[in-house]
Amino acid sequence: MSAQLTYIGLGSNLASPIKQVRQALFELSMLPLSRLVAASSLYASRPVGPQDQPDFINAVAALETHLSPLALLDQLQALEQQHRRQRQRHWGPRTLDLDLLLYGNSHISTPRLSVPHPQMTARAFVLAPLAEIAPSLNLHQQPITNWLAGIELPGLERLPDA
Ligand code: ADP
Ligand code: MG
Repeated sequence: MSAQLTYIGLGSNLASPIKQVRQALFELSMLPLSRLVAASSLYASRPVGPQDQPDFINAVAALETHLSPLALLDQLQALEQQHRRQRQRHWGPRTLDLDLLLYGNSHISTPRLSVPHPQMTARAFVLAPLAEIAPSLNLHQQPITNWLAGIELPGLERLPDA
């Protein structure tokens, strides 16, 4: 199969989140059968759900891959484990969250994997970094810039490049 262009959302709000996200971007660049083609700036965002937890650092990466969707998800979950992610509560704090946002033009709906990621069009911390690296992308037949214009960006802040 030819290589597929995929987008991965990164998030962290524990244990030096900026380092966690930078390290994860490097690790994505080392995945087998894959090539990191773009990485957004880092963004700081307020937590979704429980507010008694630190702010998040988010970014989005573009990865060209020959891995199947589930093989890629396996790799992403292995990286989450390496970062000692502990699943405690829903939408609670985490050292690293890796979400498969898009896999080419595929629509996937299985218990383990939903692509496009169901919440992505509602989340500023996904749309803003994604629009930075893929400004002409369409999501559900609508330009990403339209999605971004229709959403509030409270507490979302692009960090200066290091
Ligand atoms: P969330 O990202 O919503 O906070 P988790 O990271 O704990 O939640 O993911 C829970 C489950 O979501 C995982 O076990 C995974 O199998 C499933 N999942 C479904 N679709 C996706 C996707 N597109 N990317 C990542 N995980 C997904
Ligand atoms: Mg996740």
